Amino acid sequence: MKKETGWNFDNSYARLPKMFYSNIKPTPVRSPELVILNGELAASLGLNAAALKGDGGAAVFAGNEIPEGAEPLAQAYAGHQFGHFTMLGDGRAVLLGEQVSPQGERFDIQLKGSGRTPYSRGGDGRAALGPMLRECIISEAMHALGIPTTRSLAVVTTGEPVMRETRLEGAILTRVAASHLRVGTFEYVVRWGGVENLQILADYAIHRHFSKIDDDENKYLSFLQEVIKRQAALIAKWQLVGFIHGVMNTDNMAISGETIDYGPCAFMDTYDPKTVFSSIDHQGRYAYENQPLIGGWNLARFAETLLPLLHEDKEEAVKLAQEKVSGFNDIFHSHWLAGMRAKLGLFNVEEKDEELIKDLLSLMEKHRADFTNTFLALTRDEFDESSLYKTEEFAQWKMRWETRVDNQEESKADSHKLMENSNPAVIPRNHRVEEALEAAVEEGDLSVMDRLLEVLSNPYGYAPEKPEYTKVPATDIPY
Ligand code: AMP
Ligand code: MG
Ligand code: MG
Repeated sequence: MKKETGWNFDNSYARLPKMFYSNIKPTPVRSPELVILNGELAASLGLNAAALKGDGGAAVFAGNEIPEGAEPLAQAYAGHQFGHFTMLGDGRAVLLGEQVSPQGERFDIQLKGSGRTPYSRGGDGRAALGPMLRECIISEAMHALGIPTTRSLAVVTTGEPVMRETRLEGAILTRVAASHLRVGTFEYVVRWGGVENLQILADYAIHRHFSKIDDDENKYLSFLQEVIKRQAALIAKWQLVGFIHGVMNTDNMAISGETIDYGPCAFMDTYDPKTVFSSIDHQGRYAYENQPLIGGWNLARFAETLLPLLHEDKEEAVKLAQEKVSGFNDIFHSHWLAGMRAKLGLFNVEEKDEELIKDLLSLMEKHRADFTNTFLALTRDEFDESSLYKTEEFAQWKMRWETRVDNQEESKADSHKLMENSNPAVIPRNHRVEEALEAAVEEGDLSVMDRLLEVLSNPYGYAPEKPEYTKVPATDIPY
């Protein structure tokens, strides 16, 4: 008897106007093999992980077999890449469809690396194993850290090489997302679809992600506000764990507020606000310290797309949009400040808190302290040989902080708990990620990655017998 796999597709995107996408099947691959199946995620989607572990699962996650109810398509979108507008679209991905979970939640199931599409331009439509495993590790780590993100359901190898600078092993990632609507989707539709299609897209996004504003008087203005709020909350969370996205182009900003597209991203080790990870980002446009600024810039591009819906009078529409977009900084800042207070075990609000926080960050920068481990040291009250901790300036800062903690109503124990819940012990440090990828890709040894994934699944509570996962790299590794 055929085992039930649990697919339960209902494909709302496929019912949208034809200009939004192209119907296209994944290009079959030679010999798919399952490398990773995320059993917990599968179960939460209502899928039967056991049934998907076999060849049948590999065939589906490779795109060789289309599960019942799926309607594969590539989504059209545009975007500002490093500030320049261009037409894009799913060049190496197809949306199989939307899986409706047993809880009634809707998730995009997308195959990334599934072959050429009408939006591939010069690309081969394929992906290599290393980067797909990397996306899997980092997205799952982000999820465990409590940061909204797309998830990784499965990785398969294709049995076919992909040609980059060298010949690499081909792979396909199954990505799960609240949706793949991007700022770039709106940029595409407003440019080539007219106001009618724009309204259809906006209504669709509102219905899918912000149904509570459906009855608002100016629901498109509320929509703009909600997207701004989610991005402000998201980017604050990135800043608070030292995550650098690396390619914050408008096509990589999701309307849902999830982190999307793990390319040249990484977590910062040494605290340096100028840190950049993308090798093509020579200007440092997407450096750590610029992420809130770029968030605001991208949201301004988003607001521009909505202008025809905001008000019939163009000037009035611009005014409304500008008002909302200029509110982004304050919303971001209040999330960031609240998060930083929590990282320092502070419950109540005092005027001088921001100064206290900024003074710590300056000391960390000056003495090249590790971002994650500094907050961990303060949490555990355990200070290693790092040079920061030996300085008089740090001793003085620490006294100021301790006085501030002692003077709040909440107990020391409560403050400590708050810090434990706000400061991860383990993050996907790049040298650990690279080590896991090397073992997996070069030697076919998945055990290093499995262990890393397990550790990363419990970032706050991690109490290691061996502390190797909290160690900083021996030297600053150029990325
Ligand atoms: P990204 O920089 O990952 O946001 O991708 C930018 C655009 O390039 C998107 O439209 C992708 O679909 C497309 N793209 C990336 N890699 C490939 C590839 N190997 N083949 C075709 N299109 C690609
Ligand atoms: Mg992208
Ligand atoms: Mg990408």
